[in-house]
Amino acid sequence: MMITNRKLNTRKRIALVAHDNKKKDLIDWAVYNKSALGKHELLATGTTGNMLEDHLDRPVKKLLSGPLGGDQQIGALIAEGKVDILFFFWDPMEAQPHDPDIKALLRVAVTWNLPFACDRASADFLLTSPLMQDEYTCNIPDYSEYVKRKV
Ligand code: PGA
Repeated sequence: MMITNRKLNTRKRIALVAHDNKKKDLIDWAVYNKSALGKHELLATGTTGNMLEDHLDRPVKKLLSGPLGGDQQIGALIAEGKVDILFFFWDPMEAQPHDPDIKALLRVAVTWNLPFACDRASADFLLTSPLMQDEYTCNIPDYSEYVKRKV
């Protein structure tokens, strides 16, 4: 498949999602990294977004709650090229009512070669990458042939 690209600006559009058992972890991490996150635009699923706003004392664009479609909204924004980075603290120990949406979100992130982290250690590595402060050209598969395929 041919390759095309997408440019990530210095100010990244960061999506954040945390399952209930992971919310404390995400909030602790976000508070610890408040100044690094302050350089970027934040959007989040509903409950995660409310908690982030409270703890970071800054605006966060809030989508629907995850189980009500918020994960799918983030997935759609990724597909439209409107999200640059995803921090998705999902819970590996508890089944979620919206399991298919979680799988779909992870799949769409990989489809678009979107940098994402699903746990705190990976989030530390991603957020402290020098690339977070720079413009970055991200290679993505060129799906135009796929879209034009004869079926
Ligand atoms: P929430 O959604 O932030 O609205 O709790 C997270 C999720 O479970 O996907």
